[in-house]
Amino acid sequence: MAAEAAPRDPRWSDWTWQMRHRIRSEAQLREFLEPTPEESQGIERLSQHFHFVITPYYASLMDPGDPNCPIRRQVVPHIAEVADPAGLADPLGEVGHSPVKNVIRVYPDRIAFCVNNECALYCRFCLRKRMVGEPEWAMKKRELSLALDWIRRTPEIRDVLLTGGDPLVFSDERLDWLLGELRGIPHVEIVRLGTRLPVTLPFRVTEALCEMLARHHPIWLNTHFNHPRELTGEAALACDRLLRAGIPVGNQSVLLRGINDDVETMRALCEGLVAMRVRPYYCYQAQLLEGTAHFRVPIERGVELFKALRGRTSGFAIPLYVLDTPHGKTPLSYPYLRGREGEEVVVETWDGKLWREPNPPEP
Ligand code: SF4
Repeated sequence: MAAEAAPRDPRWSDWTWQMRHRIRSEAQLREFLEPTPEESQGIERLSQHFHFVITPYYASLMDPGDPNCPIRRQVVPHIAEVADPAGLADPLGEVGHSPVKNVIRVYPDRIAFCVNNECALYCRFCLRKRMVGEPEWAMKKRELSLALDWIRRTPEIRDVLLTGGDPLVFSDERLDWLLGELRGIPHVEIVRLGTRLPVTLPFRVTEALCEMLARHHPIWLNTHFNHPRELTGEAALACDRLLRAGIPVGNQSVLLRGINDDVETMRALCEGLVAMRVRPYYCYQAQLLEGTAHFRVPIERGVELFKALRGRTSGFAIPLYVLDTPHGKTPLSYPYLRGREGEEVVVETWDGKLWREPNPPEP
């Protein structure tokens, strides 16, 4: 059954209205669907531990008649999140890779710069659930300046990924200032934006935003669609605005059990992205992250899924299936993937280290 559209306010397409009217409680969620007992328990037990926030736009994509709706499962708390003894708060050891607050350096020449602790909504599988929505991880302007000083003093850094949280939650003015500061650093060659707003709040991608971003080229952008139902007309328009501003748009999805871990869904997602001129770039193995055991897929099954896509769709529609590790990303294919040893899968990382990733058996 298709998701019923929520009652529309005349300001529905105003991204600031959407931000002000985000769902933060079970009562507000009931305007879109009747939560299951498992969802109600999840909201009660978990919404304080990991923030429960959904934009009205994204909620309008949920199927009220289907508790397994792939949109709903990404954002509505569920009691299954409690049962994950193996999950870690920071599986990539990002805190240990931070030379200065919210700058993560894993590779010699590039950094992830978590400029913002906020997102439009909070995904239940978020890698940075330890920090998103948490005030202690917010970056005051003075802290942003300290991080910029570190980049100025570190000439090896040629590629800066602005991420978070979500950098596009910033106002145009704040983002313009930040990009201007980065553009003033001669050794910073490219700036990338990591944002889920084209998916969760596409109205944020205004013409004014795109015009401002285009003044700071070269800008690249990666977004995060996980399911073909997210490929709406509004999302396509947002991506088109970015592309017309000369910003290459790529997609980084996460392989999630019951959401996109079958060949037909992944193919529909990838082909739909290509039709929108968005390049499927990476598909991540879900990390060993607290509260996400019910989302994780055995690596062997992920390998089989992407093998099944080869030859059955355009080559450039197939993303690279990767595992992120504290040593960086590694493709989950030969020769990096060494195979299973007991409860773990062994991979070789770019710097020649062997990493052992705990890997769930099929249930
Ligand atoms: S939008 Fe990205 S950073 Fe924000 S909660 Fe979702 S996965 Fe995490």
